[in-house]
Amino acid sequence: MTDPSSLPAAATWGQDILDRLELLARHSEGGPGVTRRLATAEHRAVHDLLAGWMADAGMAVHLDAAANTCGRYEASEPGAPALMMGSHQDTVRQGGRYDGILGVVVPLACIKVLHDAGERLPFALEVVAFSDEEGLRFGTGLFGSSAIIGRLNPEDLARRDEDGATLAEALRGFGLDPDGLPAAARQPEELLAFVEVHIEQGPILEAEGLPVGLVTDITFGANLSVTLTGVAGHAGTVPMSRRQDALAGAAEAIQAVERTCRERDDLVGTVGKLAVSPGATNVIPGECSFTVDIRSPREPVVAGAIADLQSAFETLAAARDLQIDIQQRYQLPGCPCTPWLMEQLEAAISAQDLPVRRLFSGAGHDAMAMRHLTDIAMLFVRCTAGISHNPAEAITAKDAGIAAQVLLRFIRDFDPSRRPAAS
Ligand SMILES: [Zn+2]
Repeated sequence: MTDPSSLPAAATWGQDILDRLELLARHSEGGPGVTRRLATAEHRAVHDLLAGWMADAGMAVHLDAAANTCGRYEASEPGAPALMMGSHQDTVRQGGRYDGILGVVVPLACIKVLHDAGERLPFALEVVAFSDEEGLRFGTGLFGSSAIIGRLNPEDLARRDEDGATLAEALRGFGLDPDGLPAAARQPEELLAFVEVHIEQGPILEAEGLPVGLVTDITFGANLSVTLTGVAGHAGTVPMSRRQDALAGAAEAIQAVERTCRERDDLVGTVGKLAVSPGATNVIPGECSFTVDIRSPREPVVAGAIADLQSAFETLAAARDLQIDIQQRYQLPGCPCTPWLMEQLEAAISAQDLPVRRLFSGAGHDAMAMRHLTDIAMLFVRCTAGISHNPAEAITAKDAGIAAQVLLRFIRDFDPSRRPAAS
């Protein structure tokens, strides 16, 4: 059994984790916040730092063909399958210093403790800093994890960044061979599970006074693209009763999105983009296009919301004598976390005398891709005011330390034999 006293104290351990995150955050394009894109000088600097820390924690390190930084802490029996942990090194433009990279530094901190104590486990531990999850440079979300699961889209290599460089050229510039990408793919039998630590990116844990939470699902999502077409006209001469104002119709549609999504706890909807034409102060808007992003951990809830919104949009368009076109642009498949792994993570949270708060993730994560290769679990860490993708992103040292305590306990107690045969 594990001796609880062998866990480092949360506050000091967490401060060490925050200090490392601070060093990593310095490798950013111009501020504010952190901007770190795939296969750039900043990415290289972060790889070098992480590789040094991995080596210091007794890990063998390599950069794979997709620019993922990979470290392995060998099992007591060399070559045994691994418990893999990790998250992404890249950021959105002007993002924060915790989204993604926290999920690399926390497992590294745990492995350093094992290494310093000379502890080996019957399974290997691997940590991956995925090269690109946000897709900022080439619009390729989940690029690093897609390479590891062997599901890269070869056409993505021809995508260009804002300077005209292709993804293939960027990888070559990083010292990698795009033809070697298939070698980055891992096999299911090499892995026992994948666990991702990530900031919550939402306000629930803070509101409930909890440092960590257990993720149940990564949400289903759908995106609609809607265009309302009316008749542009003179702002002074067309009476209100005769107008076919596309923007006024869109305003009503946005309220329908809010109303529909407020009816349930497990449904969120956002209109994040709106284009008005012709867009002049003295012209009645003749056309208005907007997007609707709908997410829920339950696919039928998303499908039901889309059906409700389509009918609400059609009704309001008819009442205002507007033409309407609705396109469903993409559907993000949802992803449940794996029950037998969640149980073990839950036990590790409880063992730290913390309540177990289950919550779903409204954002996508590398774990979604990894689910195609192995079983997954996620641990969320409280972040200030639920803010993410923003320079103001913040966590406390104590919470970082608690996350590391939970993860280290999970690692030490991890029992792969509890995986169901059919899993
Ligand atoms: Zn992230």
